[in-house]
Amino acid sequence: MTPATESVKQLEKEIFTRITKNEVAELKSLLAANKIKIDFVDENGMSPLQHACYKGNKEIVQMLLDQGADVNLCQHEHAYTALHFAALSGNAELCHLLMSYGAKLTATNSVGRTPAQMAAFVGNHNCVATINNYIPKADIDYYIKPQGLQTEPLLPPHLADSLHKFIMQVNVHPVRVAMTLQRCTGLLDNLPKIQKVLELMRQREMTRGADTNEIMAFKYHYLSCIVSEVLKCQKRQEARRAEKIEIEKQVNINKEEKSKTDPVELFIRALLKCSKSDGIPEYQEAYLREVVREFPFRESTIFRQMVATLAGTDPPLAVSVVAAAINGQRGFSDNLQICVTCGEDKATKKCSKCKAVQYCDRECQRLHWSLHKKECARVNAANVIGSNSKVADNDKADIADAVRNEIGNLFIK
Ligand SMILES: [Zn+2]
Ligand SMILES: [Zn+2]
Repeated sequence: MTPATESVKQLEKEIFTRITKNEVAELKSLLAANKIKIDFVDENGMSPLQHACYKGNKEIVQMLLDQGADVNLCQHEHAYTALHFAALSGNAELCHLLMSYGAKLTATNSVGRTPAQMAAFVGNHNCVATINNYIPKADIDYYIKPQGLQTEPLLPPHLADSLHKFIMQVNVHPVRVAMTLQRCTGLLDNLPKIQKVLELMRQREMTRGADTNEIMAFKYHYLSCIVSEVLKCQKRQEARRAEKIEIEKQVNINKEEKSKTDPVELFIRALLKCSKSDGIPEYQEAYLREVVREFPFRESTIFRQMVATLAGTDPPLAVSVVAAAINGQRGFSDNLQICVTCGEDKATKKCSKCKAVQYCDRECQRLHWSLHKKECARVNAANVIGSNSKVADNDKADIADAVRNEIGNLFIK
């Protein structure tokens, strides 16, 4: 080996070591000080990018991508790609990053498994959902250019990023979808256009021949239905406001009063409402069942499966049928902490009064409060009686336990 190749080998070895040890700063200065082509591989055919993905280190991955690392390089002995390794690491954000750099979703390893399948195999549900909900930006950009005889595009270009984000959301609970619609800049002011584009995307997806993705088509349908419902709320709201202004004109008063309730919030309140004691939100249930029934592709597997599940005896809630159809079944759900408002995972904040329900954040708690307050008072009263009897027992261990639980359950912002 010439001294030059030897020093290159040495440098490569050091890069692998830094990555394996997650030494971000050291790696950064190493890359800054040396000019090196970053797509070299180790004795197993693994590139630096693949090592970083395996470690699940997004910062290092970004650094290597900035250096021009090839996201689809595949010299690994078992044909794993960077996305396979990221899927195994369990870091969903990392998977997203790789896909935004063009990582192939359908690449299979030597045993014929895609990255999503590998993630499912090791129980990384978030990665499975993130990969399955990903769509290339080009699918949206198609609509920001005028097609055929159109003089203007269907989608104003400044909405492309927001719509992309809206479509790729993983949590498809209708409350969360409505909240995301509100949070993606510009969408709420352009609901008719958004709905139209989603319907066209549904149609386009079902006519891709062998590449047709029924699940994605159903998701477009589902999102377009929610957009359409929020649009109805918006129109109702506007009509009411116009009526009010008319009355005010007639009685000759001119108050600048805006309605305080926005359409998204009206929709969310309707979705959460349950009037019976069985805890089933009846409007939400009926609405989602209708959304499923209105999917126009009745021959599709996804449609037939959902309808069959919902028609069975003692069917699950429609929201879980829809979520399972889009994101697949969850293996184990006993350890999950689900937000009672929007169905988000890892909702760690509990109601500080009753500790019986959990939320993502204060916004979810606020939206649920009008429904929860009665139940909260009841549960809280029962808790107080329970803890009083504990005090009467005067058992120090019990009290210590209770205090520990109290502290653990505090609603920390
Ligand atoms: Zn929530
Ligand atoms: Zn409570």
